Amino acid sequence: IFIPFLGLVLAFWFYSARDTFKPEMLRGKRVIVTGASTGIGEQMAYHLARMGAHILITARTQPRLQEVVQRCLELGAASAQFISGTMEDMAFAQSVVREAQTSLGGLDMLILNHVGTSYFGFFDGDVEHVRQLLEINFLSYVAMATSALPMLKESEGSIVVVSSMAGKVGFPFTVPYSATKFALDGFFSSLRQEFSIQNINVSITLCILGFIDTERAVRAAAEVLRERPAPRDECALEILKGAALRRRELYYRYSSTRLPLLLRDCAAELLDYLVRSRYRLPAPPGT
Ligand code: NDP
Repeated sequence: IFIPFLGLVLAFWFYSARDTFKPEMLRGKRVIVTGASTGIGEQMAYHLARMGAHILITARTQPRLQEVVQRCLELGAASAQFISGTMEDMAFAQSVVREAQTSLGGLDMLILNHVGTSYFGFFDGDVEHVRQLLEINFLSYVAMATSALPMLKESEGSIVVVSSMAGKVGFPFTVPYSATKFALDGFFSSLRQEFSIQNINVSITLCILGFIDTERAVRAAAEVLRERPAPRDECALEILKGAALRRRELYYRYSSTRLPLLLRDCAAELLDYLVRSRYRLPAPPGT
């Protein structure tokens, strides 16, 4: 009985040791953060700066990026720079990765976080909008990961994909957005399998987020969602911890994301009902 007990203790010890995040893990690392002019991306840039990483951030709004870079330098970043442009343009997406090669001499972590503007409401039938959103939220992620792969293979680095509960279970009022987030899961989870088969030591962390208190999300959903948003700085730190620990998936917050998802396979309709009950819905027509 002693040997299995010892085995259990050792396994627990190994698991907890593997689980410990230390800020030094990211010191000196060369990191790209997309969508870092505001919200969760901006907060990730600040955490990385405090940890002493080399940071390359991107988004469209140049003055905001300039301010974020300035703050990163004040917070202790090993270096900080930005490149502005739109992720509707795949050539721009690839040029951001090339910039890491030129100015940082390689890449340790690619954090894909940007998100294009969409609407909050019933699906309006605009197929062109779905296509455009797929380009920004999905195809540019694919283009950047593909361009970055040679550098990430060399550094045995990490790809971090910021997704949502809306990319794991059907959500009302964000149909085009949900579609783009489901696509990310399909692509990057399949790619992870291939990395494993080919012994490619590049981790892929898919981040499943609940409602976070960024300006965009609060403006769009605070009035209709019954729950309170979680803080974006804590969310950003949890993403970085999950990435540094090379987790396959990260759930933030656990109670509002992972736990409900456990119902998916055994009680999908109950989960659908729980998702709908998060919203203050208008009364159906004719009632
Ligand atoms: P924000 O709207 O605060 O930030 C989005 C970022 O993307 C900004 O930096 C924006 O900068 C940039 N961006 C928007 N459009 C483009 C474009 N066409 N090309 C390049 N960059 C662009 O979003 P959040 O911080 O709330 O979200 C960050 C991530 O977290 C997203 O992937 C989102 O889906 C995910 N998430 C967020 C949740 C929440 O409740 N907040 C919930 C679940 C997931 P600029 O306008 O200057 O280009």
